[in-house]
Amino acid sequence: MCAALCQVINSVPVVEGVDDSYVWWPEPSGVYTVQSAYKLLRAHTLGAGDPVFSLVWDSAAPSNVCGLIWRVILDQLQSKANLRKRGVIHSDEEARCSLCLQEEESTSHLLLNCPRVASVWARCYRWLGTPTVLPYDCVSHLQQHVSLQLNSKQNQLFRVIWFAVVWMVWGRRNSVIFKGASWVEDEVFDGIQMRVWFWLTGRVKGFGFSVYEWLSNPILCLQSVA
Ligand SMILES: [Zn+2]
Repeated sequence: MCAALCQVINSVPVVEGVDDSYVWWPEPSGVYTVQSAYKLLRAHTLGAGDPVFSLVWDSAAPSNVCGLIWRVILDQLQSKANLRKRGVIHSDEEARCSLCLQEEESTSHLLLNCPRVASVWARCYRWLGTPTVLPYDCVSHLQQHVSLQLNSKQNQLFRVIWFAVVWMVWGRRNSVIFKGASWVEDEVFDGIQMRVWFWLTGRVKGFGFSVYEWLSNPILCLQSVA
């Protein structure tokens, strides 16, 4: 006990002439924010048995896609904000979102709230005919991605669309950063629609719809399965 206390005390540098102050360690700035406290609580309350994980591993999406979603839920994606926390990058400039060039690239900013990405989500929900107001954190967003027109098994397939949005946005973001590609919303949106169709066609028994049927009425296609 005494040794542990000494270890804690010794880890704090004592600087002469500098007053003590409180530092909120989950924020790089050391200043408390409600958002960082919420994230911290989520990280501590999410265990391997949390129901949100069954949404991932029961999915019809390919395993590498599920692996990405798993990291998103745990906030272990190598977003710039996470790299900054680990000391890999340092300045505001380096941590800025590569898509909007305005805010820090946290996981939730990049995948949900970046204006460029939010526009893709809005387009998806228009296509799906599902008006919705969605939360700002990834776990709640995934949990609330349901259609009242579908039963639980069909909603399991509906969730694959959420996975595809994240997959496409992350992939395009990496292309923008590492290959100098541009963000083209039409390409991202088309890619989402086609990937889900491809994954469900190859992996779900009874999902035998043409691309035209899928693009025209995705909810009807999902209602016809199971
Ligand atoms: Zn952004």
